[in-house]
Amino acid sequence: MSGPRIGILGGTFDPVHVGHLVAAVNVRHELKLDRVLFVVANEPWQKVGTRPVTPAADRLALVEAALHGYEGLEASSIEIDRGGVSYTADTVAELERLYPGADLHLIIGADVAPALGTWVRLDEVRRAVSLVIVNRPGTRFERPTTDGFPAEWEAQVVEIPALEISSTDLRERAATGRPLDFLVPKDAIRVIRERSLYGE
Ligand code: ATP
Ligand code: MG
Repeated sequence: MSGPRIGILGGTFDPVHVGHLVAAVNVRHELKLDRVLFVVANEPWQKVGTRPVTPAADRLALVEAALHGYEGLEASSIEIDRGGVSYTADTVAELERLYPGADLHLIIGADVAPALGTWVRLDEVRRAVSLVIVNRPGTRFERPTTDGFPAEWEAQVVEIPALEISSTDLRERAATGRPLDFLVPKDAIRVIRERSLYGE
């Protein structure tokens, strides 16, 4: 019997938004995945130092609230539980231990593809997962022209509805008092308010 089919959507989720959710449900559907794990980065090493990052426990609480009640979508705290800097190589190794025989699919947005070449211990990631790339407005993934994307990697592209939403824009909206409604799931907005995040 083959193991479970698992999608891994890693991110900072600062905050989680419907772009993440739409990507996850569509990839889950297309690839017939049993579940998609939203793996919340503890210390996103490529972001720390460039901007203040919301505490990991708050970002996890937002993801848990957003996913509550959605079958097949789960928040994962494995990077937070591990502590320190979050490397996908460590995460996939841990998921292989947790789900023996699992078919792991790493889901990234097209904006992340060009940066893949900079990832730590990329070979280990490549051995462990199949790569899935979703389109994202403002970026284009095209082979072989996407600089920085390792030429030898196979990737499946899944087309999803183009949603021009980013956490960066949402933090800016919140800071300037504009609404997050319908861009961030209602339950996550409630947590943002309860915890006074993003100046709300
Ligand atoms: P930030 O602006 O802070 O970088 P973000 O909106 O890019 O936030 P991340 O947590 O960095 O969110 O993204 C996690 C993953 O989700 C990445 O692989 C990213 O490419 C993907 N993603 C985020 N938003 C979208 C979107 N609107 N459409 C498709 N993929 C997305
Ligand atoms: Mg991003």
